[in-house]
Amino acid sequence: MKPAKFTYYAPETVAEIIALLGRYGDDARPLAGGQSLVPLMNMRVARPAVLVDLNRCKALDAVSDDDGTLVLGPMVRQSGGERSELVRRLCPLLAQTLRFTGPRAVRNRATIGGSLAHADPVAELPGAALALDATFVIEGANGRRTLKPDAFFVGQLTTAIEPGEFLREIRIPKAAANTVSAFIESGARQEGVAIGGVAAQITLAGEVCQDIRLAAIGVGSGPVRLTATERTLLGRKLSEALITEAAKAAEDDVDPTTDLHATAHYRKRLTVALAERAIKQALAGPRTN
Ligand SMILES: Cc1cc2nc3c(=O)[nH]c(=O)nc-3n(C[C@H](O)[C@H](O)[C@H](O)COP(=O)(O)OP(=O)(O)OC[C@H]3O[C@@H](n4cnc5c(N)ncnc54)[C@H](O)[C@@H]3O)c2cc1C
Repeated sequence: MKPAKFTYYAPETVAEIIALLGRYGDDARPLAGGQSLVPLMNMRVARPAVLVDLNRCKALDAVSDDDGTLVLGPMVRQSGGERSELVRRLCPLLAQTLRFTGPRAVRNRATIGGSLAHADPVAELPGAALALDATFVIEGANGRRTLKPDAFFVGQLTTAIEPGEFLREIRIPKAAANTVSAFIESGARQEGVAIGGVAAQITLAGEVCQDIRLAAIGVGSGPVRLTATERTLLGRKLSEALITEAAKAAEDDVDPTTDLHATAHYRKRLTVALAERAIKQALAGPRTN
């Protein structure tokens, strides 16, 4: 199928992007990697009157270290983020998660910002962003505002980005020393869709859990923090038995629904299993310096 008629703009500066988004408001949509938006337009599920292509704006695809904070432009390609030495060093969980965000050919084109702005409940990056306590910088004609993940992800395929605004930057605190992390998922890979997944980032003092953030995908309209499991582990020595016990508490954190791919019960059990595996896999991996 072909998309409905639209007007196409390819601005080269952030000021032009903001002017176009402001002028066309709700009628305009930013175009990033096009890996979700273009198929939706071809199926006429999305019918934006105006496309504002972000691909020519060089300012949007930089990765930098701002005094211990990883700063990502929204147009950083997913495969570029995975390969980035800076991302691997400052934020290993992000690099680990980017291996799962689709087939290689798709990741070469799809962007980190595009996936976060798309906010698919089974997308991996929103889960990683929640576990990493990312900050979303949104910009429009009225300037910039920043949001944490619980305020940014407002529902299925919906974020707090308003018409006239766009996701300008993602900021992620550098992993503390002695941090381990892992992303684990399960799904129908041939369809490119995860059923569920868990992102885990744990900071250790010896064998004791000093800080832990766990986030699950595929169990709600957006990523869900597994706080009951976190509470059980915080401040304690992480034995295998304790991890198995703590993971069971993840059932209390999630309230999934049944859909074509899995029942609600299956998704709960899956979250427990993935939480346990993610924590154990993280602990088996290298610690940050
Ligand atoms: C075969 C296939 C398999 C896939 N498998 C997976 C998978 O396993 N996991 C996964 O997570 N994804 C998967 N995807 C989705 C894809 O990888 C993208 O990650 C993602 O959905 C969109 O990123 P994009 O850069 O292509 O954004 P686009 O498709 O260009 O845009 C997506 C949406 O975000 C908006 N948008 C984009 N950038 C911004 C911005 N800076 N500010 C505000 N709004 C913005 C657009 O207007 C649009 O509404 C798959 C896609 C394909 C085609």
